[in-house]
Amino acid sequence: VRHFDAIVVGCGAMGSSLSYRLAEKGLRVRALEQFGLNHGFGSSHGRTRIIRLAYYEDPRYVPLLLRAFDGWRELERDSGAELLKMTGGLMVGGEEGELVPGVMRSARAHGLRCESLTAKEVGERFDAFALSDGYSAVYEESAGVLFPEKIVESFVRLAGAAGCEFGFSERVTRWSPERERIIVETDDETYSADRVAFCAGAWAGSLLGDLLPLGVERQVPFWFSSRGRESFKPGRMPVFIVEEAPGVFYYGVPELGHGVKVARSHGGKAVGPDYVDRAVTREDAVPVEEFVTRRMRGLEVPAMDSTTCLYTNTPDFHFTAGLHPDDDRLAVLGAGSGHGFKFSGVLGEVLAGLMTGQRSPYDVSFLGLERFKGQARSGTGRSPGSHQVASSRRED
Ligand SMILES: Cc1cc2nc3c(=O)[nH]c(=O)nc-3n(C[C@H](O)[C@H](O)[C@H](O)COP(=O)(O)OP(=O)(O)OC[C@H]3O[C@@H](n4cnc5c(N)ncnc54)[C@H](O)[C@@H]3O)c2cc1C
Repeated sequence: VRHFDAIVVGCGAMGSSLSYRLAEKGLRVRALEQFGLNHGFGSSHGRTRIIRLAYYEDPRYVPLLLRAFDGWRELERDSGAELLKMTGGLMVGGEEGELVPGVMRSARAHGLRCESLTAKEVGERFDAFALSDGYSAVYEESAGVLFPEKIVESFVRLAGAAGCEFGFSERVTRWSPERERIIVETDDETYSADRVAFCAGAWAGSLLGDLLPLGVERQVPFWFSSRGRESFKPGRMPVFIVEEAPGVFYYGVPELGHGVKVARSHGGKAVGPDYVDRAVTREDAVPVEEFVTRRMRGLEVPAMDSTTCLYTNTPDFHFTAGLHPDDDRLAVLGAGSGHGFKFSGVLGEVLAGLMTGQRSPYDVSFLGLERFKGQARSGTGRSPGSHQVASSRRED
């Protein structure tokens, strides 16, 4: 049985970031991933992710975001790859919705620069959009696009250089905390570790014996041809979120060589991570095509490409980042709830600190696991006992 200072389960955005930070601290780390690098079955694939600062979800994310932006620039420097493209961000909605009032709340709380625009002003400034009266909009410069596959690859490469060992195509089947160490079993091997971090995305529920009350939701982003029109290119088109009706969100990313990405956020089918229908249907496409026809000027319908991806949601849509309330040798990082990618760098730093006895320089108490006590779907996860992962149908 080989022993490690830390084992990280899962190598998507969260696990690759955390593995890098733990290895950088000099720990002997093994990261275990059931599929290959940048596979398409989880939550970290799909070419682009939006990053923004005036965070409508909650002003408590803003200090983390300020560090996140700096962190992505540092990762670009250390990896030599372009990972973040600033485009500005346009948030559109009604006064009674969550989005525009939420953006303004964060902007006020943290003194962030945002510009209020009417629907008409949006149309005059950005040719890509056709909004109707009744919408208001906020534009912020501090927003852009992250490149997720390149980021995960960069974390893995830098972690490897810092001494982290990776086991790809190595699925964790069982783990059990013992008095002196934690045993982790995979399909082929048994390891022991002083600490284990679960960064298992949509699979976290089955790995953690329902410690967390998580819901997994199928999502389908689409790419539409802009036929090379300048109005859809970065510089002319910002990333955007539109709250069509209270709680109904669409988002998009400008043309970066693969078409203009547009998708509905949330509103997808509840699924199990190993039971996802990957075939994209007309039922998936129609609402997005209708949105594009209604709100965008000059995109080609139907879409030219699409993919399926998974949101892992908590009941309050805040992430899980913290140590296990009953055993601080166990840590959990994930449940991005549809907006976690941009935080994967900073949360990897924070969790690596917590796992090595440091305090977080940021308030992450609202992301802690204590808030789920008593909420798990089955009672099994509340004390960290030995846990066997439910055997599942494999998709690959
Ligand atoms: C369509 C879509 C759009 C999004 N847009 C944005 C956005 O614009 N901005 C933003 O900030 N966020 C966005 N998000 C959210 C963000 O992408 C996710 O929160 C983030 O990528 C989650 O990363 P993760 O590492 O937790 O999960 P994953 O990337 O799924 O990684 C978990 C890994 O754990 C592995 N694993 C699971 N179980 C085991 C096991 N037993 N043994 C070994 N390995 C295991 C899995 O194979 C997987 O690779 C979006 C998500 C989706 C799906």
